[in-house]
Amino acid sequence: HLEKVGFIGLGNMGSRMATNLIKAGYNVAVHDINLSVIKMFSDKGISVKGSPMEVAEMSDVVITMLPSPTHVLDVYTGQNGLLNGGSPIRPWLFIDSSTIDPQTTRNLSSLISNSALNQSKDSPVMLDAPVSGGVLAAENGTLTFMVGGPEEAYKAAQPLFSSMGKNTIYCGSSGTGSAAKICNNLAMAVSMLGVSEAFVLGQSLGIKASILTKIFNSSSARCWSSDTYNPVPGVMDGVPSSRNYDGGFASTLMAKDLNLASESAKEIGLNCPLTSEAKDIFTKLCDQGHGTKDFSCVFRNFYNGKDE
Ligand code: NAD
Repeated sequence: HLEKVGFIGLGNMGSRMATNLIKAGYNVAVHDINLSVIKMFSDKGISVKGSPMEVAEMSDVVITMLPSPTHVLDVYTGQNGLLNGGSPIRPWLFIDSSTIDPQTTRNLSSLISNSALNQSKDSPVMLDAPVSGGVLAAENGTLTFMVGGPEEAYKAAQPLFSSMGKNTIYCGSSGTGSAAKICNNLAMAVSMLGVSEAFVLGQSLGIKASILTKIFNSSSARCWSSDTYNPVPGVMDGVPSSRNYDGGFASTLMAKDLNLASESAKEIGLNCPLTSEAKDIFTKLCDQGHGTKDFSCVFRNFYNGKDE
């Protein structure tokens, strides 16, 4: 009973994930508010729907891949939203792969499981299943899913995850997948800032970036930002810093994720000074017009303050 899949949010990531589900043989219906992307799917003979509610009416499971919590809430609870189709709700499973905060995930999850109260049918359930890996991993079906929610549902959804990704990690109860994702991106942002700051200082003190990279990568400062995604132009091939910071992971998305981490920390009264600082830096980068550039442009545009 996972054959009919609804997919909502066909952007950079979602269009590729939905395509992999279609390739795997699922009966997929899609929806997006962007008509040009919808046309691409209908031209290929794929069923397109005019609203989330229409998607829900024909689906066993609905997957959402949207920018932020506001969009997710809109798709679930807005007019003609997934949960507005009258009762009982047809899909028994909702999977949200957007990067959003754990609080919104948990609120939606309880809304969904309460939606079938007093009905003979089992309650529908929700999994939060954000992903790691960029557009290329979405295209190649090599994403990593971090999943929160009922373990039974996670097991049942495993074939769907395998059609879109390489690794799936079960995190625990509802919201823990979202929590894992925003914590991963917080650590990634801070390591990128640390590496960028150290390289600016190192270069100013007279050491070449290529030599400092060699040292970092065989020393205790080694990390993904130094050995896989180095932010200094000319140090590594095939990374955004070597192509004017184009492609990759947009600074706007990083600013959004740091804002989610910061809000989550605030809500539970936890002091996270690096989160606040990183959020301010990436927000400033976006305000200065670098929002569409890869987030490693923080090296050039925050520390060096110039375009090349
Ligand atoms: P995107 O902006 O390219 O795509 C989002 C899509 O959602 C768009 O097609 C948009 O039209 C659609 N949409 C927005 N509001 C809608 C609504 N109300 N109803 C229907 N459709 C709507 O974003 P993306 O890069 O695909 O990212 C999606 C999510 O995945 C984000 O939360 C992002 O943080 C996360 N993510 C992105 C990457 C990446 O490298 N791009 C990697 C990992 C996780």
